[in-house]
Amino acid sequence: MNEQNWNHYAPETQAIRAGHNRTDEDEHSMPLFMTSSYVFESAEQAALRFTGKQAGNIYSRFTNPTVDVFQQRLALMEKGERCLAFSSGMAAIMAIGMGLLKAGDHIVSSRSVFGNTILMFENYFGKFGVGTDFVTLTDLNAWEAAIKPNTRFLFVETPSNPLIEIADIQALAEIAHRHGCLLVVDNVFCTPILQQPLLLGADIVVHSATKYIDGQGRCVGGAVVASNEIIDKYIYPYLRTGGATMSAFNAWVFAGGLETLVVRMKAHCDNAFELAKWLEQQSAVTKVHYPGLVSHAQHELAKRQQSHFGGVVSFELADGKDQAWQLINATQMLSITANLGDVKTTITHPASTTHGRLTPEVRAAAGIKDGLVRISVGLENIDDIKNDLLRGL
Ligand SMILES: *Cc1c(COP(=O)(O)O)cnc(C)c1O
Repeated sequence: MNEQNWNHYAPETQAIRAGHNRTDEDEHSMPLFMTSSYVFESAEQAALRFTGKQAGNIYSRFTNPTVDVFQQRLALMEKGERCLAFSSGMAAIMAIGMGLLKAGDHIVSSRSVFGNTILMFENYFGKFGVGTDFVTLTDLNAWEAAIKPNTRFLFVETPSNPLIEIADIQALAEIAHRHGCLLVVDNVFCTPILQQPLLLGADIVVHSATKYIDGQGRCVGGAVVASNEIIDKYIYPYLRTGGATMSAFNAWVFAGGLETLVVRMKAHCDNAFELAKWLEQQSAVTKVHYPGLVSHAQHELAKRQQSHFGGVVSFELADGKDQAWQLINATQMLSITANLGDVKTTITHPASTTHGRLTPEVRAAAGIKDGLVRISVGLENIDDIKNDLLRGL
């Protein structure tokens, strides 16, 4: 069963079985290859490997068997031809920009993307003469209107953080391709278990493996999934030269994380849906943002585009920041941290943490109110999570 073609297996099976070619030691579990370099049989073989004429390991900045297990599994699960792993989600986003863009190019991005993604586009790509326009993720006309002749790609994160709004990936892919651009989707919130953007027409999927893929908050890592053509032409050369490589140890943790991702995502979604319905009934809560609720503006789109509604819920309290902080401080079990995708439930106040660097005006325009609380629902018993929130409600 070593060199098996895993394409026709289900994601649960791919996540567990693909990528690991058993070595001469007959190990059952995936080995961890902690080696920076590899030995060649001859000078001739070394030369063939370096020129790419012979496949095989060269140096762990760009070839490592443990990293490759992770890459093969995630590529299969995302229905992409290839995956390359990076040292963090931000390094993966950086690689897309460094690979695809040149001075004078342009990006159209959702305004509701990870804060550091905005800083990357504005402060770093901007420094080299790449312009970015930010648009509202649900407004398809705004996306199309922002495209210029020099636009290279559209960048979207769906569902968004912290308001859990949904962008229509298929419609965005059509708009992008009509104008000769690529569509890049940050799939961190859904993972391939809930949403496969490449099947909806996206060209590149980017991940922070730090979140659900690890699932237990241990390692930082990222990945890019795309066609052979995009990887070979734009992403691999940059990884090999730029060197923001995923460590073998982290890949070993993440590849193990993928093995349980299906069951964890189902459990995260079940707990989150139950919590969202319960929050809607609490008198102190004025609004709940969760795409599984019929009250959510893109509920129908979420049903169509995702296989489940995700593990993150946010909600608003009437009395603003004081009430939000009071609720957060009253919890005894939930972790007060901005991280997400962990088996442990986390609670955060976006207006003073993840989105605290924005001016109050920009924050208001983005709909992030002072009374907003975001919860990444973990896998503890749902009644314990509710009871912990009840202390401050
Ligand atoms: C965390 C995160 C990132 C960045 O990933 P790191 O692994 O922290 O570098 C990018 N996008 C989203 C949606 C994230 O949640």
